[in-house]
Amino acid sequence: MTVQPIRLFGDPVLRTPADPVVDFDKELRQLVDDLTETMRDQSCAGLAAPQIGVGLRVCAFEVEDVLGHLVNPVLDFPDEEEQDGPEGCLSIPGLYFDTKRRRNVVAKGFTAHGDPVQLVGSGLLARCVQHETDHLDGVLFVDRLDREARKEAMKAIRGAEWYDTGLPPVVKVSPHGPLG
Ligand SMILES: [Zn+2]
Repeated sequence: MTVQPIRLFGDPVLRTPADPVVDFDKELRQLVDDLTETMRDQSCAGLAAPQIGVGLRVCAFEVEDVLGHLVNPVLDFPDEEEQDGPEGCLSIPGLYFDTKRRRNVVAKGFTAHGDPVQLVGSGLLARCVQHETDHLDGVLFVDRLDREARKEAMKAIRGAEWYDTGLPPVVKVSPHGPLG
């Protein structure tokens, strides 16, 4: 397992819809391991493959002792309930904004071995799964804010120390070969 560098806001990979996984092979299991390892290294609730530069529909999560991953997740909302609260993103480091999400979610997907899996979550777990699934569609949580809040968020992002530093993007040989 290898901790991977996190792609930051502005990296095109974060705006590119990820491709569905077709091959449930060793490389996929390596990707899930890397996601899990990197997520734990960063002490975050979840991580999506595009955040480590891999354009595949895979994410990992660890919320309140629920550790897992989803391949090709599809979300279903069993009711209309919403939640509002602070949300952040490793790709937008240090910035948190109140973000409306659905309170309850049913996520259907596959394990890295290709077995169908269903995750029923609410509260923080539901928020996390929605956040990570958004990443797979090239959507960032600031896109979910209303217009005024989004303006504030963009201002904060442009003012952030890590934003547009003029440094070249980190070039890294991906262990996933053509998957990256
Ligand atoms: Zn994120």
